Amino acid sequence: DSMWEQVQQAPPDPIIGVTDGWRADPDPRKLNLGVGAYRTEEGKPYVLKAVREAEQQILADPAMNKEYLPISGNAEFNRLARTLALGPNSPAIREARVATVQALSGTGSLRVGAEFLSTHLPASFPRIVYLPNPTWGNHKSIFGKAGFQVREYRYFDAATRGLDFGGMTADLTAAPPGSVVLLHACAHNPTGVDPSREQWRQLLELTRRTRLVPFFDSAYQGFASGDLDADAAAVRLFAEAGLELVLAQSFAKNMGLYGERAGALSVVTKSREVATRVESQLKLVIRPMYSNPPMHGAAIAARVMGDPKLNAMWQEELRGMAKRIKAMRQVLYDQLRARNIPGDWSFVLKQIGMFSFTGLSRSQCEMLVKKWHIHLTLDGRISMAGLSAATAPYLAEAIADVVA
Ligand code: PMP
Repeated sequence: DSMWEQVQQAPPDPIIGVTDGWRADPDPRKLNLGVGAYRTEEGKPYVLKAVREAEQQILADPAMNKEYLPISGNAEFNRLARTLALGPNSPAIREARVATVQALSGTGSLRVGAEFLSTHLPASFPRIVYLPNPTWGNHKSIFGKAGFQVREYRYFDAATRGLDFGGMTADLTAAPPGSVVLLHACAHNPTGVDPSREQWRQLLELTRRTRLVPFFDSAYQGFASGDLDADAAAVRLFAEAGLELVLAQSFAKNMGLYGERAGALSVVTKSREVATRVESQLKLVIRPMYSNPPMHGAAIAARVMGDPKLNAMWQEELRGMAKRIKAMRQVLYDQLRARNIPGDWSFVLKQIGMFSFTGLSRSQCEMLVKKWHIHLTLDGRISMAGLSAATAPYLAEAIADVVA
């Protein structure tokens, strides 16, 4: 007998499992709307031209080697990453009070950040994190593994398919002081619903008043609107108000570096001295986890951000990706309207970023998968990036069928 006989079969990951189901589906009409990755109009993965160019430069560079990076990663990448988020005129950066480490894309940055908080928040703070309901499924596990008690704050209003701002502020006002609040910096996943600028201002005041610890998850900067600065507005609002905050950045979507695992974790503090000590402790979190991060993706991202020509190319492509996704929203909306499906579908146009949260029930989603070979997460989230002008009519037809 194996000593592993008692090991139970684990359920497939609710998001990654969608792609497995799609792959195994023999139907030629099959569609993968589960994957959170950009696809071209032809449904193909896309490597940005700026990324290819940076990669070639790196390979041609005689100074390139494969030595270990420091525990905190590529210093130039870290500098450029935090500047991308906090802005070129950030007082926190000017005053050198931001500690930044490279980490394994957004997920790894969140994990290192959660572990740091769990160990180093003042002893009087509760180890409680408030996550939006719903949120990206991995948040619960990430904070749970770091020893946090996970709670939810109301976020999505099913009736309007918009923000439940009243519920959100009520829940966060009632949170014990010193709780961590996870905020999606832009393009909330899975709902595509963000607070307005005025609502962010109110959330800033609430965060200060209730003495919450803001933890921004920035996985879609530039990908939501096509504009890197516009998508960083919430993070900058909080940082420029002088709040101490934690920020996890991913370059998976906005640079298409998914598998390269390029990301950064920053802790914005009140002084250079504190930032220095925080960075020293972040290294103690990282060293026993994976010692130091991979170099290739960060080298690419640093070149793309740091080289004016590549940076301009990148921003152009970013605008192009955001534009195609927005165009898909319009196409899908028109297709739904053309079929006179009951209900108000304008949320398809209003929601932003990669996903649309359809409000379809679990059984309707299951019917989309089984009868129509349209693969999606069963919470009704569809990836707009996985759609094309050619496939949108098929999706509209399928939705018309399952809601009928
Ligand atoms: N946060 C959110 C909200 C996400 O949607 C994602 C990616 N799906 C991530 C973090 C992390 O992604 P990655 O680790 O690939 O950067």
